[in-house]
Amino acid sequence: MRILVVEDESVLREGLVDLLTGAGHDVVPAADGQEAVDKGTADSFDMVLLDLMLPRLDGIEVCRRLRTARPGLPILMLTAKGSEEDKVLGLKVGADDYVTKPFGVKELLARVEAFGRRVQVAPAEPEQMEADGCTMDLGRCQAQREGPAVTLTAREAGIVRWLHKHRARAVSRAELLEQVWGVPGTLETRTVDMAIANLRQKIERDPARPKIIVSVKGVGYAWGLA
Ligand code: CA
Repeated sequence: MRILVVEDESVLREGLVDLLTGAGHDVVPAADGQEAVDKGTADSFDMVLLDLMLPRLDGIEVCRRLRTARPGLPILMLTAKGSEEDKVLGLKVGADDYVTKPFGVKELLARVEAFGRRVQVAPAEPEQMEADGCTMDLGRCQAQREGPAVTLTAREAGIVRWLHKHRARAVSRAELLEQVWGVPGTLETRTVDMAIANLRQKIERDPARPKIIVSVKGVGYAWGLA
């Protein structure tokens, strides 16, 4: 994968570059937020590893700008341990996942590879669909009802993709965690509910009465239009 690594602490940045290069990736480093935005918009990457605390532009602002310039670009954010607020904010502005610092090299490499596998399912063919008046282009991570198109995160597109693909049946929260998040299904199923609530705000006509992604009591969720 071609990875943009954004980290201002030089020891950590060089460590990440060595680690990922050693694992066979093509790595481009950036030492501050402005450099990250410049490189990330000028060139194409498979993934961005983005530190939250950065000089010049912080990670949140970098995330926002990269999201606007390159909607489908997967962003993995590095946040300080225990800073719940940072995680929530990061995910809100469009980071697809986060890793908390400090991390072991093996852990980070495993997370990057797993994240890459999930987001690399980028289809060769366009993935467009229409559901209850909402048109979605999953390849481009966009959804549109009346008015301007909204951007879906890579994970939201992943949720839609998985539910649609398995529309003949209901899908459990654990299955979504495993297949879309790439984490064991025993962890935080509440995460799934929060993500679906956000997604419904973007694609449903009336998020309080969803028709595209419906809840299935005692199981999880299902594509509502099967
Ligand atoms: Ca930093």
